[in-house]
Amino acid sequence: MLPCAACPGSKPAMQTESDILILGGGCAGLSLALRLAADGEKAPSTVILESRSHYSNDRTWCFWDDGSAHLCELVQHRWPMVTLAHGGRRINVDCHTSPYAMIPAENFYAHVRDKLAEAVRITLAMNEPVIGEPRKEGGLWRVETSSGSRWAKRLIDTRPQRMPDRGAAVLWQSFYGHEIECDADRFDPGVARLMDFSPNKKGRITFLYLLPFSPRRALVEITVLAPDPLGPEDLAEELAAFIRRQAGESSHAVLRAEHGVLPMGQAAFDRGADVSHVRVGVAAGGARAASGFAFQRIQRWANACATELIAGQPPLSHPSDPSITRAMDALFLHVLRAHPERAPELFLELFSLQDPRRIIRFMSDHAVMADYAAIILALPPWLVLGEIPKVLWPPPSLREGGLGG
Ligand SMILES: Cc1cc2nc3c(=O)[nH]c(=O)nc-3n(C[C@H](O)[C@H](O)[C@H](O)COP(=O)(O)OP(=O)(O)OC[C@H]3O[C@@H](n4cnc5c(N)ncnc54)[C@H](O)[C@@H]3O)c2cc1C
Repeated sequence: MLPCAACPGSKPAMQTESDILILGGGCAGLSLALRLAADGEKAPSTVILESRSHYSNDRTWCFWDDGSAHLCELVQHRWPMVTLAHGGRRINVDCHTSPYAMIPAENFYAHVRDKLAEAVRITLAMNEPVIGEPRKEGGLWRVETSSGSRWAKRLIDTRPQRMPDRGAAVLWQSFYGHEIECDADRFDPGVARLMDFSPNKKGRITFLYLLPFSPRRALVEITVLAPDPLGPEDLAEELAAFIRRQAGESSHAVLRAEHGVLPMGQAAFDRGADVSHVRVGVAAGGARAASGFAFQRIQRWANACATELIAGQPPLSHPSDPSITRAMDALFLHVLRAHPERAPELFLELFSLQDPRRIIRFMSDHAVMADYAAIILALPPWLVLGEIPKVLWPPPSLREGGLGG
């Protein structure tokens, strides 16, 4: 650490150099660091710059545990059955062969921090926000942080790139949830309620998402798919109504809250202009367009990127999805946006496929041709045909974001 000559009396400014700087120590940044740490002394020297001063249990990561999923040792709960409901209809989806699994963020953060504490070549710098955009000087990247300048040969930037706004995605998935503890048994911990649709209001697709952890404890979440992103203040009233209905007569305590806004069918994003600088994470192609699922995609990217870095190669960004997946996602999202009132029926149809593993594989990026065919045949043809032009000729704002052909 060097004193800052330009600012006498100020706290010493830092000037350090490493092989790799990871900007942002959330899911993507820490996942990559975890893979690099596994290589011990062979790992490139790496610093993760994280603006937070501490981690909290700020989210739950769910995915289908199909046998190929990563970090399953951190899973806290698995559901062998999920349900979807609309009006008087409820369907039960038996998914015991690929149960719906949940990792609490606190398990992940604690696991990674334990591994990094033993890693000789990797440093997690908490409470050190990156200020401004990195610059390349003399073949190295210079990054200004609250503590001074950091230098590195390679940069992996996981910071969100811009605030969510209308037009930057076909739809936004906004959700707000409370983990509650009731004073009487209210939940069946064997069944996750994936989508309990509410009547369509203002062209929004609204559903309850309920993950029961015990007969008395559950995460109760309101989710809205809409062209506009929504904050907790927009969702609080409906969440309160959901919780009142679920808790019934029993009183309950709120243990924690979580909120998120995920792009579904994202607009163009800056992939970085130099091979030694990539942008990754949910803001840069990390999330699956049709579902917003990102956790397992980020793990797969982290494995591949760490392998390249350890071999002395430039970092990898998220790979593009196969063109059939992109076309199907785009079609599905445009259908939902144009016909939000049909969404409950469409989702229930898809989860009613004779073999539910088809939709699970589709959502987990493991679909085979027969799965794509079954899914397309389950959608009403006149709805699909009407949206094909939007997939082939997307609006300018969405052209380079990975949707379309
Ligand atoms: C509440 C919630 C629930 C979710 N549930 C699921 C789920 O069930 N399944 C699933 O697959 N996906 C889920 N996701 C989507 C996705 O998996 C997560 O958003 C995931 O955390 C994305 O990882 P990331 O690294 O891109 O972003 P983040 O994890 O948000 O990490 C970005 C990091 O950058 C840091 N940062 C920002 N600015 C700066 C700066 N200037 N300097 C330094 N650091 C900075 C932030 O503090 C943060 O730690 C969920 C998302 C949310 C928000």
